Amino acid sequence: MKQTILLLVILAFSAACKPPKGNEKPAYVVVLSMDGFRWDYTSRTSTPAFDELAADGVKAEYMVPSFPTKTFPNHYTLATGLYPGEHGIVANSFYNDSLKKSYSLGNRAAVQDADFYGGEPIWVTAEKYGIKAATCFWPGSEAPIKGVRPSYWLKYDGSLTYQSRLDTVVYWLTLPYSQRPHLVMFYVDEPDHTAHSFGPDSKEVTEEISSLDNYLAAVQKKLFSLDIADSIDFILLSDHGMAKVNMDKSYDLSQLLPAAWVVHQSTSNPLALIDPAPGFADSIVATLNKVKGIRAWLKKDVPAKYHYNSHPAIPGVVALADSSYTLYWKKYTLAADHGYDPDTNSDMRTIFYAKGSDFKKDFINKPFSNRMIYPLITKLLGIPTEKSLEALKNEHVEVTK
Ligand code: AMP
Ligand code: ZN
Ligand code: ZN
Repeated sequence: MKQTILLLVILAFSAACKPPKGNEKPAYVVVLSMDGFRWDYTSRTSTPAFDELAADGVKAEYMVPSFPTKTFPNHYTLATGLYPGEHGIVANSFYNDSLKKSYSLGNRAAVQDADFYGGEPIWVTAEKYGIKAATCFWPGSEAPIKGVRPSYWLKYDGSLTYQSRLDTVVYWLTLPYSQRPHLVMFYVDEPDHTAHSFGPDSKEVTEEISSLDNYLAAVQKKLFSLDIADSIDFILLSDHGMAKVNMDKSYDLSQLLPAAWVVHQSTSNPLALIDPAPGFADSIVATLNKVKGIRAWLKKDVPAKYHYNSHPAIPGVVALADSSYTLYWKKYTLAADHGYDPDTNSDMRTIFYAKGSDFKKDFINKPFSNRMIYPLITKLLGIPTEKSLEALKNEHVEVTK
């Protein structure tokens, strides 16, 4: 009897350590986001790890971020395939009028509050499909969206070293088979941080690009020496680019608009989300449109290309600074910023690289929208959706074999 139990335990244990025979699918999809890595940074200095990744796999000429080109809206677009104006994370900070709640990336309760997050992030899709997911600091992944969190997730801790983030990813990918996630998404906050302080053309950013190249080399070395290396599909991307700003061409909206006209505002250059006092929406729009370098709209008139005029988290008036201008409600100084129009400001463009068993080799794709990452991952994970395949086809995303 004892021996039978022992045998059963051994069998159960070995089943947990190995994938079922003949079932190599789904792949292990590992996604790394480097915050604010502009599409053209690799032409600035020697980047052997980026170059090798492109040669062994695929890259896009560039990826087009969604409006507004800020961190939380775009990471959640990458995760859901929806525009910020559709999924509801419409800025890094905003007030959702239907929820009567404020959101901001520094507010721990808000980032973990599922009510703010529309659509379905890829980790929820995966978990619902029976595929375990793990996230290390991906914006949005701390909330139980649709009641589901990734099997493994971490509270944001900006002080955790990049090496520890990689160690965590490797730990997850070496768990016994039955516990091992097939989707792993992790995040690093550079080169965004350095570029805000010193500007995208600074030597500090060039040094940061070199250091991220070393990190990328370390990431690839670790991932592709795992036992499961043959089944890994690795994706490297970013959320937005970065543009140098001239603080001399800066507008203080609190001086341009009488306080009585505004009930509430969330302003983060170059975007101002303004909830007007009753009867003052038109006055605000008219006043701001007289200012060179600012465009303002009633919510219903925001240009269709931004997909930003229906969600309850968007207030009555939206104002946007043009590329060479900045706006603020409270004075601050930055060398560079992002948030600008993704279509007309080429500095907002991002990177996309990928390598693995499902990707072509040495292939450069035409530019595509960052809304394509969700459908691409569903395809890699073998989660069949007609809509996803159709979207990839329409956007000419041809990176897979
Ligand atoms: P921004 O450049 O203003 O769009 O935001 C970038 C900043 O967001 C980074 O420097 C991080 O400090 C912060 N950040 C990134 N991910 C998270 C997260 N999951 N939770 C809180 N803050 C985050
Ligand atoms: Zn960012
Ligand atoms: Zn930033």
